[in-house]
Formats: sequence, structure tokens, C-alpha cells
Amino acid sequence: MKILLVYPGCPDTFWSFTYALKFISKRAANPPLGLLTVAAMLPSEWDKRLVDMNVRRLEDADLLWADYVFLSAMSIQKESVKTVVNRCRAIGVKVVAGGPLFTQNYEEFDDIDHLILNEAEITLPLFLDDLRKGRARHLYASENTWADVTTTPIPSYELINFKYYASMNIQYSRGCPFDCEFCNITSLYGRVPRTKESGQVIAELEKLYTLGWRGGVFFVDDNFIGNKTKLKAEILPSIILWMEMRKYPFSFTTEASINLSDDEDLMRMMVRAEFDTVFVGIESPNEESLQECAKIPNKNRDLIASVRKIQSFGMEVQAGFIIGFDKDPLSIFEKMIGFIQESRIATAMVGLLNAPRGTNLYRRLLKENRLVKLTTGDNTDCSMNFIPKMKYERLISGYKNVIETIYSPKQYYGRVKQFLKNYRPTQKKVFHVKWSYLSAGLKSVFILGIIAKGRFYYWRLFFWSLFRRPRLFPRAITFSIYGFHFRKVFEQHFQMMERKEVP
Ligand code: SF4
Repeated sequence: MKILLVYPGCPDTFWSFTYALKFISKRAANPPLGLLTVAAMLPSEWDKRLVDMNVRRLEDADLLWADYVFLSAMSIQKESVKTVVNRCRAIGVKVVAGGPLFTQNYEEFDDIDHLILNEAEITLPLFLDDLRKGRARHLYASENTWADVTTTPIPSYELINFKYYASMNIQYSRGCPFDCEFCNITSLYGRVPRTKESGQVIAELEKLYTLGWRGGVFFVDDNFIGNKTKLKAEILPSIILWMEMRKYPFSFTTEASINLSDDEDLMRMMVRAEFDTVFVGIESPNEESLQECAKIPNKNRDLIASVRKIQSFGMEVQAGFIIGFDKDPLSIFEKMIGFIQESRIATAMVGLLNAPRGTNLYRRLLKENRLVKLTTGDNTDCSMNFIPKMKYERLISGYKNVIETIYSPKQYYGRVKQFLKNYRPTQKKVFHVKWSYLSAGLKSVFILGIIAKGRFYYWRLFFWSLFRRPRLFPRAITFSIYGFHFRKVFEQHFQMMERKEVP
């Protein structure tokens, strides 16, 4: 059997880093981990190929080769999915699809031959069994049962070409103990974090190492610290040992809730294991808005102090913020700007509230008759899928002001400088000098130092970091490049909004 695994194209978003990737001659930030894991679950004697449409074109010859096309996608890839499905139908190859987009909106995809919903560890074997018996059905789903991730195989990383990607990814756990109103993680993966064993995590790292990867690895867990006990007792000690043995080939990034800042031992261990960046959902500096969305770990806490504490342990904090809660006051825009500048969070993803299917927010708004459409999957594209309490026009003009302020060169470079000034990394990370980094530095000099707006601030950060924090100089350049990407992607979104092309 010949299987073509296809990962549809993603539009330019905050996290796509499209404009930043050009500096390092990479094509995508991360490979499609879900598809790589599914590939490892298919019979070993089957022929498998993978086309990630974010790194190369899908040719008709690829489709003609395959007996089945396996698709995996998130909401944001919906348009590309439709194109791929139409091409498959025209060529006459059958399509099998799974992943969050299909699990949450399966009724929109009646034209797909086989929908394998929820977690593949549960539903894929049922499909494969029926396929073998010649009676494969249209839909496979599971309800209120969660996969045992200790049986999840090592992803088939050998199917991708490392040179196209900026970072690799790996998953240790699924699920989150919290239940924020706007978040669909608990409906997709449950509230009890399920974790892999330390042997599995090490085997995955070892595979990446053996295949030649060196550099960043992103733990894509919904909340990496969902099960702190196991993390501290088994997982982090194993990673620390392995990293020491392998002479620190990787640096790690992950996502965690803000209560990470309450556990100093945990932060120390993460830094020893070479975690240098953590994404945290701050959501709002407004206490009533946090109350409204049931953001339990953030409530009644000095959020700026918590962020600074994580930073003081040697980890950069990236954060998500949301505007559009019912309880947001008119002052939310100024509050948000003040919070982001003061907390020195360089990578601040400020988005508009949306209600994905399966969330408590979706259910509440449905009852209140306020839902108007499905989400686009990109909460920075100025779209909202419900009627907000604040007038949409007021929200949008305030939102635009927040973005244009925090990513203006003066505010952005200033924030980065403040962060680096106070940042004392202790990681042992071996800096792998690569041609792509050197060329990124040169491109940044040309694009950010000569052509782009805000040159003065670029050079100020450039020389300050070079002479005052030379160890952090590569990081200062990376932040400068990120800032360029963020400005570009928001510019694109605001232009679409002005042309009334908001999805
Ligand atoms: S803490 Fe994060 S992952 Fe967990 S429910 Fe809230 S938003 Fe979702």
C-alpha cells in the first residue's frame, strides 16, 4: 500500500514566523508532528511519503503515486484542505483525514472518504482493521475515552528533511488540569494530563539526535507542567542526564501555565534541562476578565511578578493575551500595553477572543444567541465569531492601537532591551554556529539596519547587546528579526481588514 501523508498549507500568522524564516533560509517553523506520529502507526511494510505543503508544492505526480492520501489539519488550514481534497477527487485518489479541524467540524467534510476523528491511537487501528477486511466506514470517532500515550510510537522523523525547518517538535503529555472557558484543549484531550514515560521521551530525543538534528526542540504539550510530580521525579532528571551525556545538542521551548512561577525547584530543573523559553497564557491584566474566562491559575496573582520570576530563573517568557471579554473595560487597551511593556514580554501574541467549537464559551454564547460563524483558527486576523459586548468597531480600533504600539520599533526594541538587560541565562547550551545564522545576521543588517523603519532602534540594540551583553547578541538579533515578522504579519491583517476581507 502506498500512503502519501499531506500537511496542508498554513497562511501567514503570528506563529508561522514566515517573514523571520526567510532570514535563516528555512521554510517552516516546525514539522507536522501529528502526521509523523500517524505515519509511525501505519503498518511498517507500507510505503510512506510525506509532503508538507509549507515547505514544498504538492505535485500531481505525488497524488498519482498514492493509493491513499492521509491529511491532518487545524482550523487555520481549512482553505488549503479544500484545495487538496478537490485535487484528490479529480485524480481519483481516496482521502483519509484526521486532526483537530476534522474532529471539531466533521460534518463539513462529507466529501472526504474516511474521517478518523479524536485521537489516532484509538480510532486509526479500527479503520485499519476495517480497511484490511474491505469494509472501511466513512467515520471513526471515540467519545470520552482518551488514548494511552505510553503506547504512542516514536514519530517517523525520517520522513522529513530537517533542512527546511527552524525547530523540531516532540510531545510528552496531552490534556490540561484547568478548563479555561475559551480553550478547546480539554474537549480535545481531557482534563487529566496523560504523560509518556521517560524512556519514550529519551528515545524520541535520541532519534532526533541520531538523525542529525541539532538546535531547538519544541515540547508541544498543552500544559507541560500538568503533572508536576512526574515531571520532577522522572522526566526532567532523565532529560538532564541525556543532555549531559550528549553534550547539550538541543535547547527546549514549551507551553506552561503561570503557576510554574510558584515552583522554584521545577524552574531550576527545567533550566538545567536546557529549557530557555516558555509560552504562558496570561490572557488579560484585568481581574474581572480572568474571572469571566475561569483562568484559575492567573486569578488573584501579581502576574507581572510571576513573569519576572520565571525570567529571573533564566527562561524567556512568551505570552498570549486576549481582548474582547464581556468584562473588558474601555481602559483594557491601555492596561494591556502597560502590562506588556512592564513585564518585558517581547513575544506577546495579542488576539481577539473567539469561541471554537467544543469550548464552554461556545456553549454559553450559543445559549445567549451571540454566535455568528465558526472561528478561522487565527485570533490575530481581526475576525470574531460572536457578537462582543463592546462595539466591534471600538474593539478593533483599540486592538489596532495595542498592536501598533507594542510592535512599534521604539516600544518593541525598548522592551527587548529591558528584558535582555535583566536576563541572566544559565543554560549550558552549545551554540551551533551555522552558516544560516551568520547569513541571518548579515540580512538583518541590510534589511533592518538599512531598509526597514525603526533603523535607529535596531542599531541601538545591536551595539548595546554587542558591547554590553555579547553573549546575548545572537538573541538580540533573533528578537529584531521576530519584531520584523510581527510588524509585517499584523500589517497584512490590518490591510485585509481595511479592504473588508476579514474572514
Ligand atoms: S491553562 Fe491553557 S491549555 Fe489549560 S485550559 Fe487554560 S488555556 Fe487551555
